[in-house]
Amino acid sequence: MLCSELNDSSEEIPVVFTSSDGSVAKIQTDLGPIYRIRARVLPHLSGAICLFPLTAGDWVMIDAGCGNEESNSDLEHGMNILRSEFDKSFSVSAIRRIILTHAHIDHFGGVYEWKRRTGAEVWIHAFESRLVSHYDDCARVENMRYAHWLRESGVLASKVQEVLDGFGFRPGRARSVAVDRMLYGGEKFGPLKFFYLPGHSSGHMVFLFGNVVFSGDLLLSKTVTQIWPARMTPQTGLINYIMSLKRFETIAGNYEARFGKKIFAIPAHEDLIVNIPERVAIATRAMEKRNNRVLKLLADSEAPLSLDEITRKMYWSGSTNREFFALSDVGSRVEFLLQLGLIDVVNSESVSCDSPTILYKRSLANTETAENTVEQIVRMYLTCNDSDAI
Ligand SMILES: [Zn+2]
Ligand SMILES: [Zn+2]
Repeated sequence: MLCSELNDSSEEIPVVFTSSDGSVAKIQTDLGPIYRIRARVLPHLSGAICLFPLTAGDWVMIDAGCGNEESNSDLEHGMNILRSEFDKSFSVSAIRRIILTHAHIDHFGGVYEWKRRTGAEVWIHAFESRLVSHYDDCARVENMRYAHWLRESGVLASKVQEVLDGFGFRPGRARSVAVDRMLYGGEKFGPLKFFYLPGHSSGHMVFLFGNVVFSGDLLLSKTVTQIWPARMTPQTGLINYIMSLKRFETIAGNYEARFGKKIFAIPAHEDLIVNIPERVAIATRAMEKRNNRVLKLLADSEAPLSLDEITRKMYWSGSTNREFFALSDVGSRVEFLLQLGLIDVVNSESVSCDSPTILYKRSLANTETAENTVEQIVRMYLTCNDSDAI
């Protein structure tokens, strides 16, 4: 068994022991160990599923992988390693609850199979429970809505299906399963506390357990998490996301003020996050930079641009399986900048169901606010908090 230390400047480094083959990390918390199992959850994307005992014989699993053969076998392998190298009392049937951070395929796609193997209850935020219990219905309706959104964005009608196929939110990809408990945020279950922090998805939750927080895809240690326009999925979009990041920072600060120590985050991908406020600041700066890039592209372009054209200029070189993600990322920024009045729609009089492409240009008004778009939302969040105080 190897001991690996995180390369971080903070003094409060969590103690992590890694299994001999690197597939399982045992993370020591002040309430006992958490086992983080690496699994291939999407092509080219590794994820982590966590397991820990609440009491002897009563284990919780956080997220369930994507449900394909690789993901399930990685998880099965990790569980065997957990038992052989760390805790002989663990058994698959000891998993009583599978609690999902959110209903993206790489987190919930495996829930049917792991509920079948364990008999565990499935818990998820109410807003994403239908995705788990009625996956095919949701996939059909959402794809129809996404197709319309792609046409608005300027994607050619003949290419829409190809872009949607690259995204892969298709009926039959995941098996539906009953949700046993719908969460809303604010619940407590034993030492677990649940927080609703939407933005990356409409029902995204994080779970506090002692001095760690399972942060799902809310905040990652190396990359900026994927954002979608709220126009596509309610409670997503940049504004909700930034508000949730600030709340996450506040939760971390409140914990430190009360208990005199830091919490660290266990994200569903990438490495542990030891300094949450620092990572929030980095993610915020990265978002500001991208927003300003959209504004500059529109200011520099003589002709108005569609979302598809802005995306091509900003990002990508033609890989269709990433196209939907790139359009969504830029789409969330365009939506946000339009809300702030920093860009305009120039062809509102000619858009129709037959000719739906929306064209944007940089607004000549509000130029002074362009440098700190994200900062405005942060101020809005702080003002809301202040004005709620009585
Ligand atoms: Zn996600
Ligand atoms: Zn994910």
